[in-house]
Amino acid sequence: MQLMREKNKTEVRVPVNEFANIMGYCEYRLLPLLKGKELPQTKTMKKGKEKHEREEEKEEELYEFKPITLEELKDIEAEIEFKREGVYTRLLKKQGNFLFLYHGRVDKIFTKHKTLFIEEDKFVKNPKKYDKMDVAFLDQRLQNVLYAISKFDLDGSFDPENWFSMPQKKRVCIIRIKPMNKQMNKKTGEYPDYKIFKVEIDENLKKILKDKMKRFQNLVLGKELPEHHNNPNKCKACQFDCEYRLK
Ligand code: SF4
Repeated sequence: MQLMREKNKTEVRVPVNEFANIMGYCEYRLLPLLKGKELPQTKTMKKGKEKHEREEEKEEELYEFKPITLEELKDIEAEIEFKREGVYTRLLKKQGNFLFLYHGRVDKIFTKHKTLFIEEDKFVKNPKKYDKMDVAFLDQRLQNVLYAISKFDLDGSFDPENWFSMPQKKRVCIIRIKPMNKQMNKKTGEYPDYKIFKVEIDENLKKILKDKMKRFQNLVLGKELPEHHNNPNKCKACQFDCEYRLK
């Protein structure tokens, strides 16, 4: 998280994954960020990042890319598949003199049947814990819903003048759970799925996200205090070095 101060306003740049991690798993994870530290990268996060990079490289080997025209971007019927990790998301929320900019990078975006699909791969050590779940974890849902309602940019610009919207009103999030220990299929460039969660964005999901963003902003501005989840199992599964760990 970064603070950018100007004369009369302060911009708070928030990586979407950090927001989702804090509001979907543990609000106490915000505390180091407020002291100017970074969230530590766990071993699982590092391994997942390597797999994402491998997918990106393989896609470049397997496919040819051509530039997207403005007309295609505006055409609700166009079928577009963006380059993996090639689309940045940008969402601005104003609160008093503060401007919160939620920024991220989506694994995969494509359009089909007048629908915008937002797809994320989640590499996990223990996929079996998803067996009985009907919906993905809250942090995973928050991340994807935020991506889906954002504006987009192809170059990583933070200037709103450069961002664009997609015309498709119907938006679907796909979360692919992938076992960390499986190998990539060299022909398709994909790692095998263990389970897939699919959800269409509706008003209820937007409201959940809006409430979480409001609380997050209040926590950052010191208007509310973080609450401990009081769940020792969550701390047990957490790899952060943390003084508030429950035993
Ligand atoms: S150890 Fe517990 S309190 Fe600390 S960050 Fe992890 S989940 Fe939160």
